[in-house]
Amino acid sequence: MGRRLCVKDNNHPNHIAIEAIKPVEKDGKLVCRVCGADLITRPDDQDEEAIDKRHNIYYDESTGTMAAVLYFKQAGGPAVISVDGSKSIGEVTEEIMAAL
Ligand SMILES: [Zn+2]
Repeated sequence: MGRRLCVKDNNHPNHIAIEAIKPVEKDGKLVCRVCGADLITRPDDQDEEAIDKRHNIYYDESTGTMAAVLYFKQAGGPAVISVDGSKSIGEVTEEIMAAL
């Protein structure tokens, strides 16, 4: 529900509850932390039921995203890299690049 979308570039992640990607305040309103453009919300990001549905799909270990993660973990090898996503974008990037 805290995700905010940049109107100029959807590759500019912003989230009001994640310090590393918090939007910045300009003239009394929150704007994109990368380019300063306006931010919008997706209607389904404000719908708790829709969010729960997306989480259930993600965490389903038999048919969801986690099923694929578990498959590659069980296959062994370096197919799955786990990183601490709470760090800054630069730190997470460094961690990923070091693991590749
Ligand atoms: Zn932006």
